[in-house]
Amino acid sequence: MADETKTTGYRGRWAFVDLTDRTVRIEPADPAYGRDYVGGRGLQARLLADHLEKTGPITDPLSPSNRIIIGSAALNDTAVATAGRGSCSFVGTMARSPEAAPWIPGHKPVFGLVSHSSAGGLFPNMLKRAGFDQIIIDGRADRPVRLAVVHGTCRIVDAEDELFETVAGRSVPRAASTITDALTAGLKGSSTLTAGPAGWNLVDFACLTADRHRNFGRGGAGAVFGSKNLLAVTALGNEAISYADPEAFRKFGRELDDLIKASVNDPTRTASFRPTTGTTWWLDRAFNGRYLGTNGGYLPWHNFDEGAFDPADFEKISTEAFLAISEKHNVCNKCRHIFCTRVAKVESGPYAGEGVRPEFETIALWVNCGILDREAIFHMNALCNELGLDTMTFGSVMAGAMELAEKGLLPGHPGAPVFGDTSGMVRTLKEIAYASTGLGRLLGHYSDRVIAELAAAAPASQTDIAYSLTTAFGGLGYAGISPKAFPGMFTAYGTSNRGRGDHTYAWTVQAEEGGLKDARDLAAYVAEGQAGKALVDSLGLCDFFTGDITAEPFLSLYRALSGIVYTPESLKACGRRIYALERRLNNAQGRDRTYDAFVPPKLRVPMTRGARKGGAVDEAFYATVLDAYYQAWGWTKDGRVV
Ligand code: SF4
Repeated sequence: MADETKTTGYRGRWAFVDLTDRTVRIEPADPAYGRDYVGGRGLQARLLADHLEKTGPITDPLSPSNRIIIGSAALNDTAVATAGRGSCSFVGTMARSPEAAPWIPGHKPVFGLVSHSSAGGLFPNMLKRAGFDQIIIDGRADRPVRLAVVHGTCRIVDAEDELFETVAGRSVPRAASTITDALTAGLKGSSTLTAGPAGWNLVDFACLTADRHRNFGRGGAGAVFGSKNLLAVTALGNEAISYADPEAFRKFGRELDDLIKASVNDPTRTASFRPTTGTTWWLDRAFNGRYLGTNGGYLPWHNFDEGAFDPADFEKISTEAFLAISEKHNVCNKCRHIFCTRVAKVESGPYAGEGVRPEFETIALWVNCGILDREAIFHMNALCNELGLDTMTFGSVMAGAMELAEKGLLPGHPGAPVFGDTSGMVRTLKEIAYASTGLGRLLGHYSDRVIAELAAAAPASQTDIAYSLTTAFGGLGYAGISPKAFPGMFTAYGTSNRGRGDHTYAWTVQAEEGGLKDARDLAAYVAEGQAGKALVDSLGLCDFFTGDITAEPFLSLYRALSGIVYTPESLKACGRRIYALERRLNNAQGRDRTYDAFVPPKLRVPMTRGARKGGAVDEAFYATVLDAYYQAWGWTKDGRVV
């Protein structure tokens, strides 16, 4: 029988880093936190709450008072398929709208939402092998520093001058691969997480990059690192996992493995496409309904105006087109069976190079900018990894900027790219990351600041400017499934804890294609999905894990690892507890129904062609779904946790 007072599975050690004082305090992990908040995202929400309960709301996420936490969960570094995903939590920089915004009806200030990002690669498992479950980082260093987490120690060290270069008159980090190679050369076998030039320049959608191409992507983690003068974290260790009952873990692990293998081998399951196409199979499904879909018509086009475009153009960036430049697998540490990532290579031309195949969401959101050049998409994906930009928010920001340019609403920025301007988009990507031009510096801010800056020079155009930016009112940017196509998906986008537009906290596409449409049912489905995803992130698993985490054999396997006995109900309760805690923190940051209910005006305009012709967000129906959603969570009608 497992002993719940012992900490197995977890490393059992947390490092509290204060960059202002240059101190590191190592403390034993609190087993009650592990039981009630599971690990990864949940544990970090609790540790963030402990901080915010002392500081009060973080009104500026780029101030030293913000906390950023990097870490793992009990399952990380075990042999469970996909258990290589780490967590990063902080108050985000992109999902904020702190100043008055008269273009938004009933606007209330939102100071930045609690954000969680998940990344794979080797880094999360190596950090755990180095001896820590969580690295909790506060304050701001007075000069550039990095963290070295090595064999049970965690040290703040000065960042070496050679890790920086001067671009556009500013000292910024070199490309992620250069920093990773340099730090790995100095510490053989280590793994590195780094901010890029974008983070150093405080771009509000800057990411952190692990192992060259795995990212804590959304929310602005790179900018938070930059604001703290923190360049990188390097981890090295070899501590093994301890098990409450190693024999039982092996037994239940084999049972779970068989179920996962069966899902990958079942051609009626989406898991069966992952080893070949990764996430890119969604391109064909969203465009024309291939790959188990119905009619398609929801691949966004022209800044979300449409969900369909010329099929001849689509073939240039289809699932098959990306398969043609894909090579061998390049997967996260210890990933098994699902294997979604592949190396990709462009042999010649201006965008020649080798890297990884871009993900569906990235491709979809750049197609939404009219970019139909597969090689350019591959190249920009590699650039985002090197310079530290979130590919998805970059796509949404660019689609908005292109619409502004097309409408003549960027008068101070001649040459700003319009839809389909591939080389202009590549150029602007670098200008944003390096803050090297007026346009780059403008677009690197959260969108309400962009709108305010543009409107200051052209007050009469304020409403038109705001119309073009679907990232207005603290949005992260909608993901690659058209927000006009599915009311449930729009609810998932509108209510996600980490900000408007996020698609990872709930996913309704298959259910809606299967007939889910009643407001109450949609609301319940989204709420249940959000609580379930909070668990997946807190367990250190990937979105593509196909087992049932609230059933056998998973529960027995988890008990054999950690000693913690969960029933289906008690584990589900953890998911709800984690999600509600994040929401409560977000309430304090200024979020309530006003934020959730905002529908960008352009999303109310029906699509004019394709299988989803006529699709648009119905505000009245969405309001009904929101009522039911708050009821499903037990929150007030105003969206507040009681
Ligand atoms: S399925 Fe893909 S993202 Fe998930 S762990 Fe495996 S390689 Fe990483």
